[in-house]
Amino acid sequence: MTDNHHHIENDEQFIGLTVNSGVKQPPVVNPYLKPRKRRPLPSASELVEGILKGDVTVLSRAVTLVESLSPEHQAVAQEVIEKCLPYSGNSRRIGITGVPGAGKSTSIDVFGLHILKDGGKLAVLAIDPSSERTKGSILGDKTRMEQLAVHPAAFIRPSPSAGSLGGVARKTRETIVLCEAAGYNNIFVETVGVGQSETAVHSMVDFFLLIQLAGTGDELQGIKRGIMEMADGIVINKADGDNIDRARLAQAQFRSALHLFPPTASGWKPEVLCYSGYYNLGVPEVWEMIDRYFTFVKENGYFEVKRQEQARYWMYETINEKLRQHFYTNPEVEKLLQEKEMKVLGNQQSSFTAARDVLDFYFKK
Ligand code: GDP
Repeated sequence: MTDNHHHIENDEQFIGLTVNSGVKQPPVVNPYLKPRKRRPLPSASELVEGILKGDVTVLSRAVTLVESLSPEHQAVAQEVIEKCLPYSGNSRRIGITGVPGAGKSTSIDVFGLHILKDGGKLAVLAIDPSSERTKGSILGDKTRMEQLAVHPAAFIRPSPSAGSLGGVARKTRETIVLCEAAGYNNIFVETVGVGQSETAVHSMVDFFLLIQLAGTGDELQGIKRGIMEMADGIVINKADGDNIDRARLAQAQFRSALHLFPPTASGWKPEVLCYSGYYNLGVPEVWEMIDRYFTFVKENGYFEVKRQEQARYWMYETINEKLRQHFYTNPEVEKLLQEKEMKVLGNQQSSFTAARDVLDFYFKK
């Protein structure tokens, strides 16, 4: 109490203000708490053994290592991926995109239950580079898929946390390999239909499903042509109640818009369907379409062609990502970049010569 007078706020000029001395805080260390043992890092072969048995705990553990930034974890993760690779590939990989509120989680829940009726297993993964775990839509979050979350044959994993899109996407692609080795023969990769992430998803799935809503006015406004061009199927959700007519109208508009697009590389003609995820209407029809697609591309050979293209794409993507990382995380390069940035901003050097100087320095090292 007495030392209140030492507070400047208690000086006469601050009349009306008083600051009380605080209560002495107890020590933060709880003497009864035993130090938590760090879980020892399992070996790659232990993990692979568990994954091949379909052990979900082991699978989750391995995915966590895939997502980890620690070099020690990455080394184990890469070995696990390498060993799982021969057991992977045997699945239908389906990308699902749509703007927030389009009904992705509601739909994935009913789509998932629909396909699991016939047995098999389903992994739901996500690519959401914008959202950190604490904000945003947290794609792939279990609470958004109530029925699948408690289904024993479903494995749900939220997006790797924010980072570069390439990095996040690569981790998801690696996770696909692990899930397939664990016997998941259906893989959904969910993403928000805004920005670049669809391209990343498109580069790792066999079928790309675009969920749309019937709006008012011009249905096609605001939908990026690029996204429509990637879609193998467009489905208009919330075709229920007094929204049915508008959904049908949107369907007609999308169909005629698709006619104007160049033929797809697969030879498949993208279809447009209406359904209601919430009321579970038209869901089997959506899956009949997807089944037709798989039959079609397996017969004409495009299925394999596309997977090989994707494998090549990811080889180069990984190289690009690693090169970029190696360059930007070099402390000397970082320092030089800062200097050069100042010069460029101060009009003392052109962007091009500054870039050349930094690159020359990097390559001569
Ligand atoms: P997401 O953000 O794309 O994952 O969308 P959600 O699945 O969370 O759905 C957004 C909102 O639309 C929720 O309030 C859902 O209940 C609602 N919704 C989803 N599907 C349907 C549907 O088929 N019909 C109707 N009427 N509402 C739906």
